[in-house]
Amino acid sequence: MQVTARLAPSPTGLLHIGHARSFLLAWLNARAAGGRVLLRIEDLDATRSRPEFIESCMEDIAWLGLDWDEEPHLQSSRSTELLSIAERLVDEGAAYPCVCTRKEVREASSAPHLDGRPVIYPGTCRGRFQSIQEAEQQTGRRPTLRFRCPEDEVHISDLFQGEATLHPLKEFGDFPIASPDGQTSYHLAVVLDDDYQGVTEVLRGDDLLSSCGPQAALQAALGIERPTWIHVPLVLDEHKKRLAKRTDGLSVRTLREQGHCPRDLVGWLLSASGLGHEGPTAPEDAIKDFSLSSLSRSAILIPEGFPGVSG
Ligand code: GLU
Repeated sequence: MQVTARLAPSPTGLLHIGHARSFLLAWLNARAAGGRVLLRIEDLDATRSRPEFIESCMEDIAWLGLDWDEEPHLQSSRSTELLSIAERLVDEGAAYPCVCTRKEVREASSAPHLDGRPVIYPGTCRGRFQSIQEAEQQTGRRPTLRFRCPEDEVHISDLFQGEATLHPLKEFGDFPIASPDGQTSYHLAVVLDDDYQGVTEVLRGDDLLSSCGPQAALQAALGIERPTWIHVPLVLDEHKKRLAKRTDGLSVRTLREQGHCPRDLVGWLLSASGLGHEGPTAPEDAIKDFSLSSLSRSAILIPEGFPGVSG
């Protein structure tokens, strides 16, 4: 089967060097296998997504020298279908309406949640209502839809990270698949759109590794085949902090505006990733010898005074 990869930016800010690096690796890995690369704009969050960031994402990706096949897919264009699948999961008993507020969930959860790990929903509304309508009528609240997570272990396999066995009830619990205002959750939207677009390979930063459990559970419930997962180490700033969406010198836009050459950035990203190519490199020139087998296991640290690329 032909490899189909995707670049899936959320248009909530400017792309940074970490996005550039995962998009570059996703693109190279697919192109080296003679595969397709699709672009999906993850714009379901209407309060945070902005049209100008849709444009800057596309310009920045093209500036790096990465192309994509087919028209870009806007996730919001399928928001009605996505929500109806969430509702269907409720009808089938794989999900249920939950009227707990965030505060109630936090208070009812017995697990400590001091270390940034997700709060595990204690299952208060599991089996409480027959339908979404009943939940609304009985409580006057619009419900969140929650996936009923499986009791059994889930086995995960990642091309770069290896194998893992997860215990859904302990590790992620009944997670939301749609919010009370009808917005499908990230996990459900990604799983459905990867399937819709025929994606066979998902290469992304390892900050999303914890998504594999919920996404694998959804794929099983929906009868969707899992893509190949490849979670790569992150790019960190000089203080070893994750790069958030940003407007400073570590955004691709700033490098562009300062007149830096994309081939310098691509060459630097490849050599910092342990993939050779010292010096300026166009992505297409790196396809021939590309292999993830020498990809460095550690995060890339951006040195102080970056960009060390010539202007
Ligand atoms: N849109 C997500 C992000 O920008 C990526 C989602 C994914 O690759 O699954 O972080």
